[in-house]
Amino acid sequence: MDRLSTKLNTVCNYCGSGVYTPVITSKDPSFHAEGNWTYVKCSKCGLIYLNPQPDQDSITRHYGNIRREYLNKFGLNLIFFLKRVQVRFSKRIPLMRGGNLLDVGCGEDPFLEVQKKRGYNVYGTDVDKTAREHFKKLGIEVRIGNLQNVKWSKNFFDVITLWHTLEHDVKPQETLKECYKILKDSGTLIISVPNFNSLERKIFNEHWIYLSPPRHIFQFTPESLSKVLADVGFRVYKVKYPGFSPQLWARSFLVFLEERKLIKLNSISRIFLTLVLFPFVIPLNLVSTLLKTGSVLDVYAEKKTP
Ligand SMILES: [Zn+2]
Repeated sequence: MDRLSTKLNTVCNYCGSGVYTPVITSKDPSFHAEGNWTYVKCSKCGLIYLNPQPDQDSITRHYGNIRREYLNKFGLNLIFFLKRVQVRFSKRIPLMRGGNLLDVGCGEDPFLEVQKKRGYNVYGTDVDKTAREHFKKLGIEVRIGNLQNVKWSKNFFDVITLWHTLEHDVKPQETLKECYKILKDSGTLIISVPNFNSLERKIFNEHWIYLSPPRHIFQFTPESLSKVLADVGFRVYKVKYPGFSPQLWARSFLVFLEERKLIKLNSISRIFLTLVLFPFVIPLNLVSTLLKTGSVLDVYAEKKTP
């Protein structure tokens, strides 16, 4: 169990309003950060954010503990192998040979490596310096720090991607303003986040695996993400719900059973039961994607013409 010191966040990270309504209270089913965590909806801007929030020091320590305790080398290599295959065949990125592509929150993910092979000039930014060491060996430049502090050139990138990064960000508007500055006028911004309006969240609610407190500071919907983007000068021109992700549905269902004390699982039985549940959750997964209420939300945005 991770003990995180928290502070009461009396104002919305986005608009500064102190008026809000509680929406959902949940435990951390993935990495067991101690305590209950509440998301509230800001009465002014409508965004859903975590309140109270852990301070930055304890959340940084928390990520370090996760790396040490939960992600072993074999598990990471397996995840990265599967991601490499997925990214290779994915149509989520426009093909633009010779274009400049930046991945914000790149980690050690194989995404940049695959896009380099597809012809992009690739760059990364992350707050964790292990990302820079990892990509140095592959000849890929990664700058360490928050996007607004690492100073990429203005109007330089054809494509900027944020894969499951923005929901962790305590100041998403600052990150998006910087994206606006460094993206070319003809460029594309691609953001992928968990979808708070998804069928999976509505069914499992506080047991939804993607709620993921205290790591997810914001919970976005298609509407709220479009609003945040519009506020900094972007126009959303495409919304997609990618996805074959029955493992998420199965894990949400297992969290529900575990927290109701109906079953007790270890890591082996959790993997086994996840696979057993696949035939039951795949239809739900497909229906939610068809109804445009998928668990993951991808938005494609461009700069509004002045
Ligand atoms: Zn607000």
